[in-house]
Amino acid sequence: MRSFTYERVSSAADAVAHAARVPGARFIAGGTNLLDLMKLEIETPAHLIDVNGLGFDRIESTSDGGLRVGALVRNTDLAADARVRRDYGLLSRALLAGASGQLRNKATTAGNLLQRTRCPYFYDTHQACNKRQPGSGCAAIGGYTRQHAVVGTSEACIATHPSDMAVAMRALDATVETVRANGTRRTIPIADFHKLPGATPHVETALALGELITSVRLPAPLGGRHIYRKVRDRASYAFALVSVGAIVQRDGSARVAVGGVAHRPWRIEAAEAEMPRGAKAVAAALFAGATPTAQNAFKLPLVERTLDAVLAEARS
Ligand code: SF4
Repeated sequence: MRSFTYERVSSAADAVAHAARVPGARFIAGGTNLLDLMKLEIETPAHLIDVNGLGFDRIESTSDGGLRVGALVRNTDLAADARVRRDYGLLSRALLAGASGQLRNKATTAGNLLQRTRCPYFYDTHQACNKRQPGSGCAAIGGYTRQHAVVGTSEACIATHPSDMAVAMRALDATVETVRANGTRRTIPIADFHKLPGATPHVETALALGELITSVRLPAPLGGRHIYRKVRDRASYAFALVSVGAIVQRDGSARVAVGGVAHRPWRIEAAEAEMPRGAKAVAAALFAGATPTAQNAFKLPLVERTLDAVLAEARS
């Protein structure tokens, strides 16, 4: 691990001001991904700004009937919150499908959104990786790709986003709230928050340098059946091969977001219009233009069958 300096801050204004002042600074809260990456020298921040003291650890009701989830709310606490369990069951279930109990106790809402891919070549510093070292190439292309993306890929990167929580946030149309380095605040729809890799896979989110997530806002409850199904190689503590998060209404309409298939949670609103024709039609619309490899083409029928099972469960 490279040496770095460390400080604790007690206000968001200080956090972003210090981040703007110190080149190579990074925010740290739970650290469940960042510290691993630092030990492997994949992330080498010169300075860590500990934001755990900012007080963004509450879940508050909003005037429009939704919830504002503080950036520092731990995954365990968010999943267990009575309002989340009652009105946003998809979110609670997705959170509980992720990581392990110990990690969920530590991991934060903002950190979950910002976690980085688990592409094995990204973690092996002897391999070419455009995400780790822009312009170096992509060892995954032509390599072992069973876990990789099947849609929204580029010639530079075929990695997936690993978060379960983000899949639920995408189906719920959450909004990310931030404060920028100059102190101004902004809101970013979750649909625009995670980027596709394109030619710059190292640019993973819409956040500007030194911009800090303060909270995530959930809209008023949507009702319906909330189902999250995660398919993985072992029953716990594993990332999704594919996952399907759905909110299914009595009239058969549904919102569907898919994990494990792209560089961001994958939701195509137009595909949801195909719901009356069944899972096959929805999957076909979701994966129009997909570019699977021979090793991960199984993900396409796997999503279709998982969605079929989700819809059957919703009808039961
Ligand atoms: Fe790196 Fe992306 Fe290629 Fe993986 S798929 S090696 S993260 S560029």
